[in-house]
Amino acid sequence: MNPAGKPGKSGSLMPVEVALARLLEMADASRIVERERLPLARVEGRVLADDLVSTLDLPPWPNSAMDGYALRAADWTGEPLVVSQKVFAGQAPDALMPGTCARIFTGAPVPAGADCVEMQENADVQADERVRFTETLTPGQNIRAQGQETTVGELILPAGTRLGPIEQGLAASLGCAELDVIRKVRVAVLSTGDELVEPGQALGPGQIYNSNRVLLCSWLQRMGCEVIDAGILPDDLVTTRARLGELKDVDLILSTGGVSVGEADFLGIALREEGELSLWKLAIKPGKPLTFGHFRGVPVIGLPGNPASTLVTFALLARPYLLRLQGVKQVEPLKVQVPAGFDWPIAGNRREYLRARLENGRAIIYKNQSSGVLRSAAWADGLVEVPEHRTLTAGDSVYFIALSEVLS
Ligand code: AMP
Ligand code: MG
Repeated sequence: MNPAGKPGKSGSLMPVEVALARLLEMADASRIVERERLPLARVEGRVLADDLVSTLDLPPWPNSAMDGYALRAADWTGEPLVVSQKVFAGQAPDALMPGTCARIFTGAPVPAGADCVEMQENADVQADERVRFTETLTPGQNIRAQGQETTVGELILPAGTRLGPIEQGLAASLGCAELDVIRKVRVAVLSTGDELVEPGQALGPGQIYNSNRVLLCSWLQRMGCEVIDAGILPDDLVTTRARLGELKDVDLILSTGGVSVGEADFLGIALREEGELSLWKLAIKPGKPLTFGHFRGVPVIGLPGNPASTLVTFALLARPYLLRLQGVKQVEPLKVQVPAGFDWPIAGNRREYLRARLENGRAIIYKNQSSGVLRSAAWADGLVEVPEHRTLTAGDSVYFIALSEVLS
């Protein structure tokens, strides 16, 4: 491969991981550092700008893991104990009177002087309301120690963490009402092609509806990006140049179509004229052609236009780029190994991402894997990775990437 990213000799394809490494390198070089402070309820999908360090011990004091009785284990000698106080969650108990026990409920602070909690199922309340215990008591039992989850000064979430409901819950448990997050990535979405018509309009001869636009706009919104919907770009150089020029204040221009090195590759021409362009032929199926370049300094990723190709290349290449722009370290989707529920008799020279479902613990694939068939992905709940130059027999282990992993 030469430095311009073109295949070194005709026919050689760029491995997916090489393309990804290059994209991530570019993302690292133009990392977004501007930040904004948001209320905790609004940070979902965004990326934490600073390390989140605990300012609290969690739990802040020893508390009961059970409904039952708190006492000093050594005070239980077989003689029933008087219940000297009742402690509910949210109350501050008195110190335990020596030789007594305290009625206590889950989450309530353990009174000073008590060193264990016995669950109520192992306690007999006598006619005189004193309590007998039926099992051996061990100091520490059923007490959640102070700081068992977190202590003051501990790193809880590093900068670059993508925030979701769990991280929001964790930040809330530490008392954070607001968090500093990286500002939204601004992405302009362009669909190229004279054949494209928006849903709602009548189809003329040779025309098809634009499916990539809404697919990408919704996906980007889910990812927490600011989407600039730049509409459909006709296959025409003058318009292409003019429309690209309007998209100034964005972090990325994301286009689909017009990258198959066909005659109508006006995006490529415009980039060559007023920026630079790497045309990559990737060892990926669906989705061989991919463009990376700049137009007047603005990064451009051009995905192939076939909807299943758009989906796969966005998931595996553009999405990681956008996450890394915000400083996310782990940008690749989690893969799990599952047995193939199908045969793959003919090895390909590209890594294939088959739209697949898990059934009875095996991956089965949609009957039509054509790159134009988006229905395959709606049917699927993930992508099965078939390495280049490999055949498979049912039962062989394959990697499976859940679509839910990449769709936000
Ligand atoms: P292209 O890369 O422009 O040659 O497009 C490859 C294929 O994808 C052609 O069949 C296009 O009609 C189709 N295609 C391109 N863009 C879209 C789009 N936005 N929605 C649906 N199909 C598209
Ligand atoms: Mg086209």
